[in-house]
Amino acid sequence: MKPVMRKQKLFVRGKKSPVYLDYAASTPVSKGIAAAMRPYESEKFCNPSALYYEALEVRKDIEDMRGQIAKTLDALADEIIFTGGATEANRLAVLGVLRAARKEGITKLECIISATEHPSVRNLCKGLAEDGVITLYEVPVDNQGQVDPKVLRDMITPQTVLVSIQLVNNETGVLQDFTQLMKAVRFMRKQHGHQWPMVHTDAVQAASYQRLQMRKLGVDLVTLSSQKIFGPKGVGFLFKKRSAAFLPPFSGGGQEGGYRSGTEYVAGIIGGGLALIKAQNEVDDNHEKVSELRSWFSTQVRNLIPKSIVHEGALQSPHICNLTVPGINGELLVIELAERGVLVSARAACSVDDPEASHVLAAMYQDHPSRNLVLRNGSVRFSMSTKTTKKELEYVLTALEDISNKYEIL
Ligand code: PMP
Repeated sequence: MKPVMRKQKLFVRGKKSPVYLDYAASTPVSKGIAAAMRPYESEKFCNPSALYYEALEVRKDIEDMRGQIAKTLDALADEIIFTGGATEANRLAVLGVLRAARKEGITKLECIISATEHPSVRNLCKGLAEDGVITLYEVPVDNQGQVDPKVLRDMITPQTVLVSIQLVNNETGVLQDFTQLMKAVRFMRKQHGHQWPMVHTDAVQAASYQRLQMRKLGVDLVTLSSQKIFGPKGVGFLFKKRSAAFLPPFSGGGQEGGYRSGTEYVAGIIGGGLALIKAQNEVDDNHEKVSELRSWFSTQVRNLIPKSIVHEGALQSPHICNLTVPGINGELLVIELAERGVLVSARAACSVDDPEASHVLAAMYQDHPSRNLVLRNGSVRFSMSTKTTKKELEYVLTALEDISNKYEIL
């Protein structure tokens, strides 16, 4: 999709700034977090691997943060690896497990991902399959975006070394039931009499709304990101259970316990860590506030445009409301909204076979009567945060009404 160039001031209706509803794409860095990061860009700039006192102080700050994050997530400090963003954490998880499996003498490597994974997992695994490194299977989702644990169970063979399934989908906000999925995995591990498959989840979209307790979640590897939770960009976290079969896929100076070489982005670690701890401490309040907004907004949209289709799951994160408005292409709707000062994302396509059509909606609408309509029309993702107000959503509804009138889609 091409970038939207807004005509200056066209949208302003007594409002000076646009209504930002793309929090699932990125969040601004909180003022307090930016302030906490600043010393590490200037006076506390030393390389934390150096041996003099000033550097040891920086090292101590990193390790303190690691400890606090571990405590928040019910993990051990050496189970937290800082990375350069979520894409890198996902790559690290997948490639680290595969390297460990190969080292153990497993030659035929099978991986299972869900049909709705983020491109950072999906495209990586597809590339590995194309290169003949792995055999890749996609576990389907139902019309509500959920993976059926029984279907997953039946797909796990003695050669399955990795299962990677998102906790919350970034397009729709559908939440997976990991209690049931892990039951299925543990059952098959027992059947096959070994520790495989390792289980990875990309929990990037979950951190502000789901309580993440690593022992309870029971998975081996979890990816988190700072930039979706009011922390800086380019900072990710990989939880790696101590017992997980994992070998570092990249080498270098041996930082991060040898798992992720490269000089640490200290300011990012401090800022991202604070953001993660705050997000987790406030999960219940975040969930309550944003659930109320989403529920109100989706009801209003349905009243306003009865033909609109909200793409959601039986289990759902409150911050994403993804919808198709028949009669207006998702891409065009994004442009029309942007011209009225409402910033959202879209997955739009011209035909069902268009490579730009959403693989997430394609998977959810498999064998569904609305499949062609949804894929041809595309959809728009409104994503909220605790910063979102009802007043902003009311403005969005007037913008939607205006657009609906223009395209005669009411
Ligand atoms: N996973 C999910 C679920 C995401 O939403 C994103 C960001 N769109 C990523 C991974 C990748 O994050 P980053 O671009 O920060 O590496």
